Amino acid sequence: FADRDGYIWYDGELKPWRECTTHVLTYTLHYGVGCFEGVRAYKTPKGTAIFRLEDHTKRLFNSAKILAMKMPYTAEQLNAAQKEVLRANKLESAYIRPMVFYGSEGMGLRATGLQTHVIVAAWTWGAYLGADNMERGIRIKTSSFQRHYVNSSLCRAKANANYLNSSMALNEVLRDGYDEALMLDPEGFVAEGSAENIFVITNGVLSTPDVTSALDGITRRTVMQLAEDHGYKVVERRITRDELYTCDEAFFTGTAAEVTPIREVDNRPVGEGRRGPITAKLQAAYLSLVQGQDGNYPDWLAYI
Ligand code: PMP
Repeated sequence: FADRDGYIWYDGELKPWRECTTHVLTYTLHYGVGCFEGVRAYKTPKGTAIFRLEDHTKRLFNSAKILAMKMPYTAEQLNAAQKEVLRANKLESAYIRPMVFYGSEGMGLRATGLQTHVIVAAWTWGAYLGADNMERGIRIKTSSFQRHYVNSSLCRAKANANYLNSSMALNEVLRDGYDEALMLDPEGFVAEGSAENIFVITNGVLSTPDVTSALDGITRRTVMQLAEDHGYKVVERRITRDELYTCDEAFFTGTAAEVTPIREVDNRPVGEGRRGPITAKLQAAYLSLVQGQDGNYPDWLAYI
């Protein structure tokens, strides 16, 4: 990924992609103390727009605050940087990755005087879990790794180190031929996917776990709003694994995953074993919203 043309915003200026390197003694590389965002921009009839840019930037600042990292830029500067990166790379639609990390001014956990760096990269990214799977649905498997305990990893922070757990869980199930991991919280209740929130639909009611052991996903919030707009009841509550086995429909949400139907859990079909009708409706509503074809939430589209 490092050897390509293009520009990355690095500490306040656009630098050629290949020159965006950092020292091997970078504190974040050793200890994982850093935070990032995953944002998407879509081509709309009125030009390229970043979806819920301000909410993503707000979450990035909250993540930094949780990790007690001092941000050297304002939200306005980082919003502008994300737009600038899309323009510089001539991207009409893209995945955007802002990241905040410490420098190499000291080694050891106790290092002081570390400088905070910020990068913003962007690239073209299609359907995260496969274009076919957006219709067909994916096969997931409960991971042997549990999701974060609330007082161990702080889930409100989209922290680099939290993704050790995600990566272990995902790669375990990928090796076994599944598409994504289902992660349970430390008490055994359904938490989320390795990079997605989860929704379960039974008798027309949507349920999703609260965000104690899951990321406070922006797509999750968006889909909750869209579901309510469509007249569905949405409940945040504890969900058991066997509820997933017996529900009518289930889907994942995420900036990368958008709305991805789940067709199978632990080798059992979910509902009819294909994308359910409510999932299809909400998926279409989501895609139409982010692509600027739904005039209802103009504040959620930041045109570049
Ligand atoms: N959970 C985890 C662990 C994630 O990494 C993501 C992706 N950011 C999500 C949920 C979904 O969050 P969002 O909708 O804000 O992308």
